[in-house]
Amino acid sequence: MDLNEPIDMHVHLVGNGLGGSGCWLRVKRWQRPFAGWMARQIGLSIALNDPDWDRLFPAHLAGLIRESSLAGAMVLAQDAVYDASGHRRTDAGSFYVPNEYVFEVCRQYPEFLPACSIHPARPDALEELERCLERGAVAMKCLPNCHNIDCNDRRYRRFWQRMADAGLPLLAHTGGEHTVPVIEPRYADPRVLRQPLECGVKVIAAHCGTKSGLFDPEYFFVLLGMFGEHPNLYGDTSALNVPLRGRHVRRCLNPDVAGRLVHGSDFPVPVSGYRHWMGGLLSTQDLRRCQKISNVIERDYQLKVACGFGPEHFTRIHSLLRRMS
Ligand SMILES: [Zn+2]
Repeated sequence: MDLNEPIDMHVHLVGNGLGGSGCWLRVKRWQRPFAGWMARQIGLSIALNDPDWDRLFPAHLAGLIRESSLAGAMVLAQDAVYDASGHRRTDAGSFYVPNEYVFEVCRQYPEFLPACSIHPARPDALEELERCLERGAVAMKCLPNCHNIDCNDRRYRRFWQRMADAGLPLLAHTGGEHTVPVIEPRYADPRVLRQPLECGVKVIAAHCGTKSGLFDPEYFFVLLGMFGEHPNLYGDTSALNVPLRGRHVRRCLNPDVAGRLVHGSDFPVPVSGYRHWMGGLLSTQDLRRCQKISNVIERDYQLKVACGFGPEHFTRIHSLLRRMS
């Protein structure tokens, strides 16, 4: 992958594990119609409980990338939930994507870059980190509010220091969340990321702290304030084409903020341009053109280009990801 080429740095793999991938998925009865709709809108016409899903999903995703303007995608593992003393919470979490599966998928598809996921309270957190570095992880992904991670816990300091030494950036969910169950809402606040930032880890605040539900607290401006204090802090534009999260896109285009942002879609999350059209950021012609694009990875990209994100927005991530020497 060329460093001048645009990539999507926030793409989820989702698996049911029925074919032996190690993934699991818990879809509540009321979420089933939504999950089916999500599969259809990404163009996948197999059932969520098909034993072949975990093989077909990455194959389909690779096809979407190849047919898009993007040269690649960073695909994300998803660790289990743990309590602060390192016990796995078998009652919590809605999906699990093991690091091994992500590395295996990335070995098959050269357009993918692997982001591992490690809860730092795991008894084997440091060993797992070493394994993932060895296997070529380019970033580490977690959701502090959904995984129950107080990143400022002193016990995690060695973990963040090792990440900083290895040049492995942290992609951390910030802001509300409604697709994955929240364990500790306070950890949606970007200030929970202070310790890794102080240890020298490059931190990317996913969704820029925007709210996902109407009643979520708004952390977007907290994040902007933190940009001034922490030169190693960034934000991603994943899911900003979802109506509620999209309210700050105009502000994101300001040069003082835009220089700290990287492009991600949050695939398979739905993508729509209506909010930006209503806010006057998108012309009717651009809205119509983008809404006709069936490839959601490409639609998300084209909407951002039409809103005014410059070419650097789509390539800046290359300077943050870990490079194997
Ligand atoms: Zn995501």
